Formats: sequence, structure tokens, C-alpha cells
Amino acid sequence: MNVHSSEYIEIELAAREPKPFFPHYPSEYEAEIKEFTSTTGEPWKWWGHTHTPPPKHGTPPKYVGRFYLPKKQVEAKVWVPCPCCWPNHRKFGRKGGLIAWFPDEKVIRLIGPECYAALNQEGHDVAIADLKRREKEKSELDYILRCLGRLPEWLAAINQMVLIAYQADQFFPMISSRIHDSLRIKLWRHIRNGTLSVTEEIAGIRVGRDGEPEEYTERLSTPLFQLEGAKALNPERKLITPTLEEMRIALKKLSHFTEETVRTRPAQERLAISKELRRILRCVQTMQERLRDEMRLLGQVNINRLRQWATDPRGPVDFEIERKDGELSMRGRKEYNGIPIPEELRTNYLPTVDLPLE
Ligand SMILES: [Zn+2]
Repeated sequence: MNVHSSEYIEIELAAREPKPFFPHYPSEYEAEIKEFTSTTGEPWKWWGHTHTPPPKHGTPPKYVGRFYLPKKQVEAKVWVPCPCCWPNHRKFGRKGGLIAWFPDEKVIRLIGPECYAALNQEGHDVAIADLKRREKEKSELDYILRCLGRLPEWLAAINQMVLIAYQADQFFPMISSRIHDSLRIKLWRHIRNGTLSVTEEIAGIRVGRDGEPEEYTERLSTPLFQLEGAKALNPERKLITPTLEEMRIALKKLSHFTEETVRTRPAQERLAISKELRRILRCVQTMQERLRDEMRLLGQVNINRLRQWATDPRGPVDFEIERKDGELSMRGRKEYNGIPIPEELRTNYLPTVDLPLE
């Protein structure tokens, strides 16, 4: 052992004294230890820590939790000694350490994250798997509690969203049907990728096979505009309202849980609840994105672009469409003048259900 190493550190005798004060799994000390280490950066000075190497053949520890050093200390790379392997040298701390409880000796050691594995790999693997399971359960519980706090707000947003979706489900298929069936314009195939293109014919002269100059024309597809919300006019557009309604009911079912009842459920059941929450929220968000996109179709600038493209002689379709204030008009083989756009679709206001951080 190099006493003169810059990493050498003198450890107080008190730290080495065995402290068999913990006959039971000491979960109640986890918060205190975390607080102590993350403020002092000196885990070996915690009053309950035993700074001796664990016996090689004893019962493997249980990992109560993880502890961390102060951020500034990690940045300065000032590490801490480990009772298992380097009791007098600053050796670990970059990724924090483990609060290890040794039931045979009834002691707690604050050790490096991989240290006990060197003594007993299998014992370490079992203990770390158990810790990870508990950490996962904890994070699922936290997730559920975060969600529960926001359920009333989300339900209100979905209620409003349903009103808008209902109008969209009526309005867009009606417009699409009038364009495709009544005006007999094959619009969808030309707008489905969100680009409004026209075909340009370019004439030129080139040298032919016989060596003589010859004229030729080339047809080039040229994008004119981007069209937002084109999917609203898909003839096979799926309804949004029934899915939103279903999600509203599913979410409402979860709203009878309180923090108290969730905490007392078995872990397995909590996992099912958090999965269900994720499923509902993802689904609502998908519907919300669809609706937001479709509502953009009716924007004045967007409709103006569609109008200009639809009457362009170089374009693949020929009909008129225009928006004036709250009304849409379309003209071709037939005329539809002044179709009222539902109030809910005249603006781009959409309530949002934002996912909480995982
Ligand atoms: Zn160690």
C-alpha cells in the first residue's frame, strides 16, 4: 500500500469499528444516507458505516439503495475509499455507490458499485437484480402518482377534444366525398404525400442517332406547394371520435384510484395500471396529432395553395376550391357554395394532453 500516494487517505478509527446496529433490513436509513453522502461527499464518515472488508463467505448483502457524491466533487474527480477493496485510497464515486446491508454482521457498508462482485459474483448479481426490481417498482409508482394528479385536467381536455373530433369526423368525409364522388376529381392520389406538384414540359434539341439534330420534349414533375393536413381528405379516413371516447372511458375508470389505494396495491397490479396509463396516453396523443394535422388543412393560406394548384393548367386536376371567412366553396361538374365550416374547425385551437416525463 502506497502511503504517499496522492489518493491515500487516513481513516478515523471510529469508522473501522463494527456497528452491528441493524438487525433488520434498514430501509428507513436510505434517505438519511443519501442526504449525508450527497452533501458531505464523505460516505465513510456516516455514523452507521462499518469500514471493514466484508467476510468472503458470509451471506451476501442486500442493496438498500444507491448513494451519490456531490456533483462538484465528481467534476473535480475527488473519489472516496471503499471498505471492500481500497479502505485507505480514494477510488470510487463517479457513478455513486451502493448502500449494502450485511445480515450476518448486522452492519451497513457504503461500498463501490461493483466491489462486492469481486468477492462473490453470484451474490452480487442476485442483490443487484433485486435492487433494480425495487427501483423499477418505485419509478412505476412515481409515474402513476404523477399521472393521477393530472387526470382531471386530462379528462377535461379530452372532453373538449371530442367535440372538435366529432365535427372533423362529420366535415372532412363530407368534403372528401363531394370532391371524389360528386365532382369526380381523383384528388387523393395527387395530394397523399403532402406535395402539390405540376407537370412541366421542357422542349429541347439533341443529336439524334443519325447524327442530325432532333427536337424532343421531356415531362418533369415539379413540386409547387406543400399541402398541410392532406390526410383529412383520405377517402378511407378513420373516425377519431370513437377512439377518443373509448380512451376517455378507460381514463375515467382509473380516476377512482387515490394515492393511498395505489400505494397499497401489489406491485404486479401497479405495473398493470401504469401500462394502461401509457397505452391510453399514447393513443390520445396519436389522435391529438392527427386532429392537429387535419385542422391545418382548413388554414386560409393552405386552402389558397390548394386552390391555385387545382386550377393550374399544368396540374393533374381541374376544379375550384376556396375559403371565405367561415365557408368553403367548391366548383367543378357541380357547385357547392358556402358550405359552413364548423365553428370548432375554424381556428387551430386544440386542447392538449401532454405526456408526463417517464
Ligand atoms: Zn470496493
